[in-house]
Order: sequence, then structure tokens, then C-alpha cells
Amino acid sequence: MKLNIKHTFTLELPADPIIENSRRQVENACFSYVTPKQTKSPKLIHASKAMSETLGISKEDIKTEQFTKVFTGNEVLTNTKPYAMCYGGHQFGNWAGQLGDGRAINLFEIEHDNTQWVVQLKGAGETPYSRTADGLAVLRSSIREYLCSEAMHYLGVPTTRVLSLALSGDEVMRDMLYDGNSAYEKGAIVTRVSPSFLRFGSFEIFAARQDHKTLKTLVDYTINTHFSHLGEPSIENYIKFFSEVSLRTLDMIIHWQRVGFVHGVMNTDNMSILGLTIDYGPYGWLEDFDFGWTPNTTDSQHKRYRFGNQPNIGLWNLYQLANALYPLIEDIEPLETILEAYKIDFEKKSLKMMSSKLGFETDDDKDNLLVLALEDALLLTETDMTLFFRNLSNFKKGDAKKGLEIVKDAFYNPNEVSDAIAQQWRDWFESYDSRLAKESLSDVERKAKMNAVNPKYVLRNYMAQLAIDAANKNDYGLIDELFQLLKQPYDEQPENEKWFAKRPDWARHKVGCSMLSCSS
Ligand code: AMP
Ligand code: MG
Repeated sequence: MKLNIKHTFTLELPADPIIENSRRQVENACFSYVTPKQTKSPKLIHASKAMSETLGISKEDIKTEQFTKVFTGNEVLTNTKPYAMCYGGHQFGNWAGQLGDGRAINLFEIEHDNTQWVVQLKGAGETPYSRTADGLAVLRSSIREYLCSEAMHYLGVPTTRVLSLALSGDEVMRDMLYDGNSAYEKGAIVTRVSPSFLRFGSFEIFAARQDHKTLKTLVDYTINTHFSHLGEPSIENYIKFFSEVSLRTLDMIIHWQRVGFVHGVMNTDNMSILGLTIDYGPYGWLEDFDFGWTPNTTDSQHKRYRFGNQPNIGLWNLYQLANALYPLIEDIEPLETILEAYKIDFEKKSLKMMSSKLGFETDDDKDNLLVLALEDALLLTETDMTLFFRNLSNFKKGDAKKGLEIVKDAFYNPNEVSDAIAQQWRDWFESYDSRLAKESLSDVERKAKMNAVNPKYVLRNYMAQLAIDAANKNDYGLIDELFQLLKQPYDEQPENEKWFAKRPDWARHKVGCSMLSCSS
């Protein structure tokens, strides 16, 4: 394996001088050198050909023993020094102090085709940031992260990527439901890839410790490396940097709302500074369209990270980042202006996104009301979001009467659609039809445009669970099947029609399908 390896992060930022891998507070440093754990019998389950090509790794390389060893932490390439990053974060609204890469170990950076990537193992053993946990990851959560990262990428949602999924060969003890029933599960390691794994919390930790020197070094590095189009670091450019992070964060969340993705744990340590979806834990996909839904059982009481609250939380998290950057800017006004702009932009972009889902090319004053009326109707009964929007593209102008018929497959309980509800839908389809009359696209053209924003296939919660159940029986076929399916989420795939269906009834209350804990 010949890789074009780089080390900008470790060369340009301060390292923890202590080499010992003990759990502790790490001060005045952005990272600590660590060595991944040797595992019992590493076995590659899956590798992403697209990602390996992007990194300059050939198909032949993937088949080598060295590939499996390197991407499970069992071989450290010469001239590389793995490290864990130091960061803090606000968890569920409260400052949690130092967190850091407790089970993520960065191997090296690769530059290929003028793009720089960081390659990171998740689940490769303990680090100074492991706190009370073991630094490991189980197969179920690793499959979920592996499949979902690539699915999101192909949906056009900004995200960190993955290179490979492997078994460590070790067993990992977990209390999956936090109910006192711990059991051994298969350990796994996902190799994640991103231009950077820096999070809001990477900056917050230095502000919280009033270590403004390291804060400045890190911000300057981030601008020089990842936001170089903004120019040299300066107060003016710190403000521009924050503005761009704000825009990227909003754009990412608008994409989540478009496809029905619920992150589940939007703590500031899980917010990428590049506006990428990061840290796939107890995430979920909306089946029933419901602003109040969260898959995360740890958040079931307050539902802080529910679907409909994601845009607000994005803003809340940006406030924390603004506070962290303030010592370098010392002027509150420009930061407030950017945060205020987020609210206005959210309204605008959200409406634009919903209009695109409805197939509108132009803007109309009343679109806002039409969208609100649609959301009201969708909330009346359990209605599958993906099926609804995909089938809506079959609507024909001037045929409002057929509207309900076209989308009826999306209703989980057709019996629940009372006369009053049916009437509300008919009224909505009448308004939709009148609105479409103002658009010049033909039915066929509109359908093509709608199908490019309303996916046919998403990683429904039960689909990931089926792949996990099979993998626990040593059958990895479904992982590949879903991986391939989700590479073309907007295309018709007649042979895969079975995945374009409502969640089956058995999955309604099954653990892993509708509810997930943070245990992973
Ligand atoms: P999360 O909310 O899963 O992103 O994790 C929050 C913090 O807990 C991060 O600092 C993680 O690195 C750490 N963490 C989560 N699981 C483990 C684990 N099994 N071992 C060590 N650290 C962990
Ligand atoms: Mg995390």
C-alpha cells in the first residue's frame, strides 16, 4: 500500500507531552499520541471502493492482510504516529468539560488528488480521553455508522465518510438497554474518513480553560487548512470563519429535514466545524412524519434532539461556538448579527427546501401557508414521510381528485383516515393543484425534479437492524446489499422495490428499530 501521507495536524498543533496512555485531563494540547489496541483476530467485513479510490488505495490493496491490519489498528505504518484529539462539549445543554476522542484514534492524513483527508479508527482502544469507558465499539453500532455515513453521502447530505468495517475479534461488554443486563457482543472497528474531525467542542475546551493561546493556534490552523479561501487569520477573518460555519451548519440541518434524518445526540462535541454530519450514534430516520420524534431513549423525557428541534439546536450550538471564539474577536455585535441571520436564513432555506420537495421552481407568497397546511395534514395520522413525498411526484396537474389516491400507500392505518381527514387532504390537494398551475414545468419534468430531492430509498431503522441481526449470525450479505442499494437513493431500482415500503409492523416497538440507547 503506497499512500501519500501527511501530518499537518500533529506538526502544526501542540501535542500532549505525556506519552503514557492513562485517563486524565490534558491541558494546553490539541491531541495525545496513542497506540491502537492489538486485537485478537481482526477480520474485514466490508470496504468502500469509492472511498478507497478517493484515498488512492487500490482494489488489490483492500485484499491484502496489511489493509486489514492497518485499518483495525494492528499495524501502525512506519513514519506515522496515531493520536487522539482533545475536545470538550455541551451535552444535553450542560457544559461537560473535557471529553475528547475516547475511542477514536486518528492514524494519519492522506493527500490524494489535491484533497486532504484524515483517516480515523473508531473502537480501536482506550486513550487518555476514555474517562470511565473502554475505548471499544460493538458491531451493531459500527454497522449503523458504516451504512449511514455512505447513505448520507449519496443522498447529498454533508457527512464524514467511511473506508472499512472490521471485526476486532474481541468481545465487548455492553448494557444495551441500560437496564442492568450486560452481555458480551462482538467488537468492531470502523475506519472513518473526513477532511477534519474537529468539532465545536474542540474550540470550546480552550475557551473554557481560558487557554487563549492554544485557542488561537487551533483557529488559525483551521482557517489556514480548511477555510483558506477566507484569507490569512485575522479578527475580520475569525468573524467570516464563524459566519461560514454557521451557514454550513444550517445547510446540513436543512438537508437532514429534507430527508427525515434525526441525529439523536446534537451535543456540541458532535457538531463538526466543517458542517458535516458526524458521530452516528442513536440516530434514526423518520418513518411517520412527526416533529416530536427522537430515536434516542436517553433523550425520551425532554426530547431535546427531536426532529423538529434540530434547527433550533443548531443555533444553540452555534451560540456556544460564538462564546468560544469571542476571546479572539472581543466584539459581540458581529457574532450576534450572524446568529440573528441564522434564524432568517433558516426560514428562507427551509421554505425553499420544502418548495423543492413539492416540485415548485418559482416562489409564491402563499407557499408558506401551503407548506404549513401540508405539515398539519401529515400530522393527522401516521404517515410515512419517504413514501409520501416520493409518491407525490406522480400527481398530475388538474387532477386534484386523484391526490389522495396517489399518496394513500403512505398511511400506516388507512382506517384512521376519517371523512374529516380525507376532506382536509382533498382541500390541500386542491390548493396544491392551483399552485402548480402557476408553474411551467410539465408533469414529467416536475416528477424528475421532485425525485431528485425526495429519496426513494433511505436507511430505515429496521433495515439497519436486519443487517445487524444477520451479521450477529455471521452473515454479512445484507450489509453489502444495503450498501449498494443506498448508493443510488434517488433512482428507481425495480429489483429493490421491497425496500420502498412502510416499516413492517414487527419493527414498530422493536429495540434498535424505533428506540436506541447511547450504548454502543
Ligand atoms: P458520543 O456522545 O457517543 O459522541 O460520546 C461522548 C464522549 O464519550 C466522547 O468523548 C466519546 O469519545 C466518549 N465515548 C463514547 N463511548 C466510548 C467508549 N466506549 N469508550 C471510551 N469513550 C467513549
Ligand atoms: Mg461523539
